[in-house]
Amino acid sequence: MEEQNSNPPGPQPQHTPNRKPGKKRRLSLYWLYAILAVLLIGFNLWGPSKGSQEKIDQGKLIDLLKNEQIQRIDLVNKETAEIYLNSKGLSAHFPDMTPNKKGTTESPSYTYNIGSLERFEELVQTTQEGLPKPVYINNVSKKSWGWEFLIGWLPLIALILIWVVIFRQIGRGGAGGGQIFSIGKSKAQLFDKDNIPVNVTFKDVAGLEEAKVEIMEIVDFLKNPEKYTKLGGKIPKGVLLVGPPGTGKTLLAKSVAGEANVPFFSISGSDFVEMFVGVGASRVRDLFKNAKEKSPCIIFIDEIDAIGRARGKNPINGGNDERESTLNQLLTEMDGFGTNSGVIVLAATNRADILDKALMRAGRFDRQIYIELPDLVGRREIFEVHMRNLKLGNDVDREFLARQTPGFSGADIANVCNEAALMAARNGKDQIEKQDFLDAIDRIIGGLEKKNKIITADEKKVIAFHEAGHATTSWLLQYAHPLVKVTIVPRGKSLGAAWYLPEERQITTKEQMYHEMIATLGGRASEQVIFGQISTGALSDLEKVTKQAYAMVTYYGLNEVIGNISYYDSSGQQDFSITKPFSEKTAEVIDQEISKLIESAYQEAIDILKDHRDGLTRLAEKLIEKEVIFSEDLEQIFGKRPWDKETESEKLIDKPKEDVSENLI
Ligand code: ADP
Ligand code: ZN
Repeated sequence: MEEQNSNPPGPQPQHTPNRKPGKKRRLSLYWLYAILAVLLIGFNLWGPSKGSQEKIDQGKLIDLLKNEQIQRIDLVNKETAEIYLNSKGLSAHFPDMTPNKKGTTESPSYTYNIGSLERFEELVQTTQEGLPKPVYINNVSKKSWGWEFLIGWLPLIALILIWVVIFRQIGRGGAGGGQIFSIGKSKAQLFDKDNIPVNVTFKDVAGLEEAKVEIMEIVDFLKNPEKYTKLGGKIPKGVLLVGPPGTGKTLLAKSVAGEANVPFFSISGSDFVEMFVGVGASRVRDLFKNAKEKSPCIIFIDEIDAIGRARGKNPINGGNDERESTLNQLLTEMDGFGTNSGVIVLAATNRADILDKALMRAGRFDRQIYIELPDLVGRREIFEVHMRNLKLGNDVDREFLARQTPGFSGADIANVCNEAALMAARNGKDQIEKQDFLDAIDRIIGGLEKKNKIITADEKKVIAFHEAGHATTSWLLQYAHPLVKVTIVPRGKSLGAAWYLPEERQITTKEQMYHEMIATLGGRASEQVIFGQISTGALSDLEKVTKQAYAMVTYYGLNEVIGNISYYDSSGQQDFSITKPFSEKTAEVIDQEISKLIESAYQEAIDILKDHRDGLTRLAEKLIEKEVIFSEDLEQIFGKRPWDKETESEKLIDKPKEDVSENLI
């Protein structure tokens, strides 16, 4: 889920107030830049001559030689001839230059590219034939020290550079400068009055009423600890927030800090983990040290499962020493601070089941708050919170939108509001209308509409019949989830989709599961019935059905042959990828039973569709024509579902607390 309002990227704030953040690091880097700059400049000034002297051609050289204007020719590295003029030559060509004692200049006046060595020597000789004082060629070899230097020192410079970069990387975000030692500092981001104020309060958190009540108590603990300790009670040290991603756990933790008006340290479990052993533990120590200095305060550890996973459950891999020592340090720290030290640790995870039992023991995370996906009312309130700052059109109805978004998390809804605003802006509107929200919802469910995805008429027909197959079977089966909407507009990876409105139920019967499997296979069955052939388009259906059948047989004890046995492991302690909890023989039976179950469901789907071939065809044609159809269209074709006593929307209004989630097939 998209993280919003969370830690902004950028330099990490400092924990100890008196130190100037990051100053040392920058200084040392400036030094490096300075050295490099000096090198470059020096190289340019004193490096190999850049040919400031005029280059002359053969004709000019012959002229100079014939007129006896040359004092000396230095042949440098057998490539370039440097020509020094004598006083006669100087007065002829450079009248404002006075010759030195030797009758020439310090630097050559001209250079000449010799081409081949023999021809050059011959040229110089023959040109001067008969002259009284011929000039001879001096062979000199000049080493340009710049290059020598560079080549000699390059490896070392490169090493230093790499070294600096590495330690800068490691030290990044660490407290207290750029020394390598900051690797063990915690990377927690601090929100407080001086740095980034926490401006989130309970007002910004919609729904989650029970969680708020419970967490309100913690605010009270922080504000008036004496009230509780007076009677001998102990203030809880840690609260674990458990729930799916995007349900507002971070937001809730932040709002506690905002309500209590105390500093808030935010860190993710994975920030502790580094490839060096011992770093995590030292970061934990550092975090708690900083927190105690700022107490009363709140530490928030997001994704605590990154370190809090149960220890040493897999003897083959030998466990992860680094993670274990980090976790041990965390446990020690939580045990270590006194109950009245004013530090409360909040942690979030979406997998409480895999956490180490030691973390949940009394005195550590003694409280657990479960946060679930928002229900209809919750979603409406979240819409309200996020619409506060939007310019809305008159037709925007929060209740309606909440009903269109079953299974959405708070983060999804925040995302819908933002997308809708962007869409309206893109279309040049001056307010956000209902349609923008609907488009945003579709986009978030299915990804971007692929307007230019090329789908041939034949393919479109197959997709339409596939989706119509799902719709028909689910409509005609008593226990399948009723359908809300079917589309064949390609989005993201899917070519078409059917949305269902699952009824809220805490237990599911065998029959209900079986009916759902039939409806899931209805897509492929429809292809078989209509075209007599099947396609690859049913991959996700098959995956879903296989998983469901596997669960029925091995987890829920819903198969007669296997009987009342569950191989489910709720503790997450066993690793079944290596050892299976059943024998080879049982494995064979399981495979057979799963296959039998799926095949009979498929046959059932085929039978239903054969019986209602007309309806199926009409539905598919309507789908090809309109691309999107709703339950009303199904009702027109097949009639009301006899076992539906009330329509879905009425049901929702009657029982607004009901939770609905959505399936995308
Ligand atoms: P989590 O930590 O559970 O993954 P976050 O707290 O980071 O989720 O939520 C992400 C964003 O989703 C929040 O910044 C907020 O904009 C939005 N959000 C989630 N739940 C709620 C809620 N109950 N009320 C208002 N906004 C919410
Ligand atoms: Zn399908």
